[in-house]
Amino acid sequence: MAQVSLNSIRKVYPNGFEAVTPSSFDIKDGEFVVLVGPSGCGKSTLLRMIAGLEDITSGDLHIAGRQVNHVDPADRDIAMVFQNYALYPHMTVRRNIGYGLKNRKTPKAEIDRKVEEAAALLNLSDYLDRKPSQLSGGQRQRVAMGRAIVRDPALFLFDEPLSNLDAKLRNQMRIEIKALQKRLGVTSIYVTHDQVEAMTMADRIVVLNAGRIEQIGTPSEIYHSPASTFVASFMGAPPMNLVQAQFQDGAVRLPCGTAVLDAPTSRRGPITLGIRPEDVRLGQGQTAFDVHLVEELGAHRLLHGQIAGQPFTAHVVKDTIASPGAHVVDLPRAALALFDTQTGARL
Ligand code: ATP
Repeated sequence: MAQVSLNSIRKVYPNGFEAVTPSSFDIKDGEFVVLVGPSGCGKSTLLRMIAGLEDITSGDLHIAGRQVNHVDPADRDIAMVFQNYALYPHMTVRRNIGYGLKNRKTPKAEIDRKVEEAAALLNLSDYLDRKPSQLSGGQRQRVAMGRAIVRDPALFLFDEPLSNLDAKLRNQMRIEIKALQKRLGVTSIYVTHDQVEAMTMADRIVVLNAGRIEQIGTPSEIYHSPASTFVASFMGAPPMNLVQAQFQDGAVRLPCGTAVLDAPTSRRGPITLGIRPEDVRLGQGQTAFDVHLVEELGAHRLLHGQIAGQPFTAHVVKDTIASPGAHVVDLPRAALALFDTQTGARL
C-alpha cells in the first residue's frame, strides 16, 4: 500500500519565511495527485519535503504507513522525475536507465531485463545505445521516466517534468505519462503551474496559493465548483468571469441595475458573481455585453469585452454569428456562482 499522508506539514525556511502553512491531505494508493498553483505558492517546497530533499519544520509525513519525516531520501522508496531530466551526458540511455539499479547492486541480468522492459514500454528500444545529446527532448524525458520506472518505487514524484518541451510535445507526453501511470498503478504526485496539465492528468488536484491549500478536489469539482475566486480565476482558460454586483431590492444586480438572480430582500451589500465563458448565452436575455474583440479559434470563438463596465469573456461555437459591438447575453441562473467580495470564498 503506497498511501501518502500529510498531517499539518509546515515549512519555515531558515530566514523565517513560511513557504508552506500547516497542510493536511491523504493520497490513496495508485492515485495521481497534482499540486498546482502560481510561481512561489510552495508546491515545489511541498514536493521536496515529501521527497526528503527539504526538512519538514513540523507535522507528520507517512508513506505506505511509515513515518518518514527523518528518513533519508534514498530510503523512502520513491523515484523522482525532474524538469531538467538530470541525465548523465556521458552514459548511454541503457546505463542512464539502469544506473539506480546498479548502485543498489542488482545482478546484471536483472538490470538488463528491467531496462529492456522499461525501454519497450517507453518506445526507447531503438535508442538504448545512444547518449542523451543524441535524443530529442521528448526522448530524454522518457529516459528520465525509464530510470524512475525500473526502480519499481512505491511513489513517483514529478517536478514540472514537461516544462522544457514545446507545446505539441507537452500535450503528447502528458497523455503518455498519464497512461503509463495508470498502467503501472504507482501512486504519483505531480507538480505543475500549468492548469491544463492539472486538469487533464489528475485524479485529484490540490490548488495552492501563497503556501496554503485553497481547494482539493477532482478536476470536475475544481472546475465546476471552485471554492474561491482564486481557484475560479486560476483554473480554466480563459478563466471564470468575475463581475462585481450588489444585493439590492430582492435581487443580485449588476452595477447597471440589471437583476441576474433573486435574493432575499434583507440582503444588502457587494457580491462577486462568477460565470464560466462557455455558460454565457449570446443573443438571449437582457444583459448588455459590449464586445471589443472576437478571437477566432477554429472550433469556437472567444468574445472579449465588458459587462457593466467590467471585463467579460464569452465562449461561443464557431457558427454563432459574432462581431464587435453591442450584444445581449443571458447569464443562466444555474451557472452562476456567488463569492464573498471581501474574502473571495464561495457562498
Ligand atoms: P515555482 O513554480 O516558481 O517553482 P513554487 O510554487 O514551486 O514556485 P517554491 O519553490 O516552493 O514555489 O517556493 C515557495 C516560496 O518559498 C517562494 O516564495 C520562495 O521564494 C520561497 N523559498 C524557496 N526556497 C527558499 C529558501 N531556501 N529560503 C527562503 N525562501 C525560500
